[in-house]
This record gives sequence, structure tokens and C-alpha cells, in this order.
Amino acid sequence: MALTISSVCKNITPSTTLRLNALVNEKKQQGLDVISLAAGEPDFATPSHICLAGKHAIDTGKTKYTASSGIPELRRALSDFLLAHRGLRYKPGQLIVGTGAKQVLLGALQAILEPGDEVLLPAPCWLSYPEMVRMAGGVPVIVHTDMAQGYLPTPAQLAQAVTARTRAIILNTPNNPTGVVWGEQALRAVADLAQAHDFYIISDEIYESLVYAGERHIPIAGLNEDAYSRTITVSGFSKAYAMTGWRLGYAAGPKAVIQAMDAYQSHATGNPNSIGQYAAVAAMTGDQSCVEEMRQAFERRCALMLSLLDEIPGVRYAKPHGAFYVLADISRLLGKRYRGEVIDSDGRFAELLLEHALVSAVPGEPFIAPGCLRFSYAINEERLAEAVRRIKTFVEELI
Ligand code: PMP
Ligand code: GLU
Repeated sequence: MALTISSVCKNITPSTTLRLNALVNEKKQQGLDVISLAAGEPDFATPSHICLAGKHAIDTGKTKYTASSGIPELRRALSDFLLAHRGLRYKPGQLIVGTGAKQVLLGALQAILEPGDEVLLPAPCWLSYPEMVRMAGGVPVIVHTDMAQGYLPTPAQLAQAVTARTRAIILNTPNNPTGVVWGEQALRAVADLAQAHDFYIISDEIYESLVYAGERHIPIAGLNEDAYSRTITVSGFSKAYAMTGWRLGYAAGPKAVIQAMDAYQSHATGNPNSIGQYAAVAAMTGDQSCVEEMRQAFERRCALMLSLLDEIPGVRYAKPHGAFYVLADISRLLGKRYRGEVIDSDGRFAELLLEHALVSAVPGEPFIAPGCLRFSYAINEERLAEAVRRIKTFVEELI
């Protein structure tokens, strides 16, 4: 036997977002004044009452293994929260807590996919989805959308992508990287299709609390009994409570799926970290005004970002209605020269922007949004304005 690497791992593209975060930190350590619009995390500190609960957990010895699916207090708190704030009725046995929504999503796919099963991915989509589907033995089936259609697939597009091997669809509302919030009609079309062809809906709602005026978050599981019975709702604490480093997320869904995820998790990672789980109870049961304050700040920053982007010729976007990203279409700038070099891709654009303007952005390509850059506006308004000024100066140099 040769000492080889598995074909699953050989074919994984490491996370571009995490690689960029590391690159930006490296440049900052070299003393460079880099402004990161690449980070997919709130710049706010974790609210103090949540931190205190974490500290209290350490001080009172809550530092041991827990049930692999999470402490009963947290699953109960989640069950109450989902009913009170989302109108979703899940018993604690239908809930599993894991090491971030990321691990929970992978766990859900591992629980439901047979080798070769297809998973529909309306795109642009979070760059981890296609990799996760492959890691779980499935085949990603991309449903392409564009800015003109508001980055929402039509029912016909979705229906055309369905085959006898379709096992699931992954929805993400509000969406990373577009900020699109799926409305009721679009969600109903997905629910109807899933019912007609009997496949699962994995609904990634990690940005659910960050929705702006004029829109509202609709959990697809709440649409009707059938949608409820086939949906695995995934969310977490990273975005709403600025808890990215605590690594906690959860899924709610059919009991059989949750039990399968628990069995897998019990061998893969065991329980998510105990201290974080106690902090998450405080997040779920405590005052929610911290979430609203952060949401309002993101909404203000979004408006600022868009008004400044409007001043840059050649940059277009579909107005985001949630999360903290704007997907900027820079395709009209590709083919132009920067200091003699023809910029031939969004990836090269992002590299030159980082090198010469000291602004980092994530190329659209891994999000299946070629010709675009994803800008995160999860930074303070002064730095945000400075970053967009730098981008404008960079674009003005293109010929
Ligand atoms: N889903 C989406 C769409 C995301 O952007 C992220 C960001 N990390 C996650 C899931 C995972 O979040 P976490 O693992 O930090 O809970
Ligand atoms: N989800 C965030 C992003 O899209 C965080 C990084 C990651 O986990 O990929 O940037």
C-alpha cells in the first residue's frame, strides 16, 4: 500500500475566506495598515453577559464532557427560543448542538447522503457548501443565478436541476455572499418542489437575526407541515451574538436525522465545548437588545458602503437586505490594466487590491460568483469609508 492521501481530501479546496483572514493577519503583523473587508465575522465583542456566563462555567467546574448533542439546558433554551422568536416547535430531542454551524451542516449532510446523491445549491452560495457535499460523498448540483434576477433561482430553474438522485437542497437566507433574503413565494416554491420529489431541505439560517428594514426572515420549516417534516434548520451563535471563536452552532429537524447526526458526532468530535454551551444558554435566555444594536449598526454600515460604492464607476451590486456582505460585480473592470498588467479575473483583482491598496476582499469565484468580489462591512464606519476610498483610487488607476 502506498502512503497516499484520500481522494476526498486531495480534491478539497481549503477555505478561501479562512486563508485570506490568515494572510491579512500576517500583513498586519508586518506593520502594514491593511483594512479587511474579507472577514466573515462581526467586529463586535461577545456581549458581556454571555462572556460572564462562560467565565462562571469555568469557575464552577463546568469543564467536563457533556452529552454529545449538547447540555439539556441549552437544548431546552433553544427549543423555547425557536418557539418564541421563530414560531417553530421543536422538542429538545429534535435539536443538536455542534462545533459551529459549519460542523453541524457537514453533520447533516453526512447523516442523509448516500454516495452519489445530489444536493442542489442555488448560487452564489457560501464557499463551504460544495466542498462539504463532496466531503460527505455527495455531488453538488449548482443552480446558477445572476444579479438581474436578484440572485434568486426561478422555480423552473430549480425544477430543471432535480433528478432521481436529488437528496437535498441547501438554502441560505439571508445569503452569504449576496445578502439576499428569500421571500415567502421563493421559499414556497422550494417547499413544493421538495415535497413533489421527496427530498430534504437544509436551511442555513445563521444570519437570520441580521435582516434589514422592509424584509423579514421566514424560516422555511414554518411554512407548512410537510416543509417542517423534511427541513433541517441550521443556525448558530457566531453572527447574531458575535461568538465566532466560541464555535457553537445547532440544528433542529426530524428526530431520526438529529439522532443520526448525534451518533456520528459522538464519534467524530464528541460534545461541543462545555464552557461555550453555558455561555450560549445565556445568549438564548438573556436580553436580546445586544442583537438588535448590532443589527442596526450593520444596517447603517450597509447604507454607507452602498453609497460609497455608487461613486465607483464599473462596480454594480444587488442591494443586500441582510447579513453583512455586499457582492460587488466588477466584471466591467476585468480586462483593464493596472500598472501595465491586464486584470483577467476576480482573484487577480483581489490580489492586486490587497497588494497595492491594502484592502482585502474575497474573490467571487469560490462563491460561484465569477467577476465579483465579496466585501464584508463588519468593520467600523471610519475604516469602512477609508477602505472604499482606497478601492476607488485603485479603480481610478485602471485603464
Ligand atoms: N453558514 C454560513 C452561510 C456562513 O457564512 C458561516 C460562516 N462561518 C457558517 C455557516 C458557519 O458559521 P459557524 O461555524 O461559525 O457557526
Ligand atoms: N462564514 C464566514 C465567511 O464566509 C467565516 C469564514 C468561514 O468560516 O468560511 O467569511
